[in-house]
Amino acid sequence: MIIDDPEFGEIIVRKNPLSRNLKFSISTSGRLQVSAPKNTPNFFIKRCLNQNRAMLRQQLPVNDPATQRARDAKRKMLAKKAREYLPYRLEFLANKHHYSYAKCRLSHANTRWGSCSSSGTISLNIGLMQVPEQLRDYVILHELAHLNHMDHSTAFWAEVAEHDPLYKEHRRKIKLFSPGV
Ligand SMILES: [Zn+2]
Repeated sequence: MIIDDPEFGEIIVRKNPLSRNLKFSISTSGRLQVSAPKNTPNFFIKRCLNQNRAMLRQQLPVNDPATQRARDAKRKMLAKKAREYLPYRLEFLANKHHYSYAKCRLSHANTRWGSCSSSGTISLNIGLMQVPEQLRDYVILHELAHLNHMDHSTAFWAEVAEHDPLYKEHRRKIKLFSPGV
C-alpha cells in the first residue's frame, strides 16, 4: 500500500505479520517506508506519521517528492534505453561466445548488476546503461559464464577471463558505481 503524503511524497506501507509496532525507515529508493503489524488500520498509520513528523524529518534522509519525481523520470528513461539495448547486447555476446540462455529479464532498484538462474534466465539491471561499455559487457559475460558454472569457482573465473581478459580490472571498477537507480 502507498500513502501519498504532502511532505514525504509516496510512503510505502508494508503490513508484516511479524511486526509488533510501527517502524519507519528509508527504502533503497530513498522513500519513506513503514512496516506495521498486519491489521493496523491506515488512519492509525497516518496519525503516527503526523505525530512523528518532526522526528522523521530530522532523523531520516528522505528525498523530497520533487527529487523523487525526478528519480522516477530518470528510471523510466533508463528502462527505455535498457529495453532497446541490453537484450540485443546479451544476444550478441551470447552468439559470439556460443552460449544459449532461456530469456533476458530487466531489473531495477536492487543491489545487483545481474543474475543468472538455474533455468537460464539472465537478469540485467537497467542501471547498466549508466556505466562504461567495457564494464557493462563484463557483467553480461559474467552472467553468461554462470550458465556453465553456477558458482564463483576457479573454473568460472577462467571462463570469464577467456572472454574478458581484463575482467579483474572491470570487476574492480564496477564497484565504484551503484546499481540502484
Ligand atoms: Zn556471479
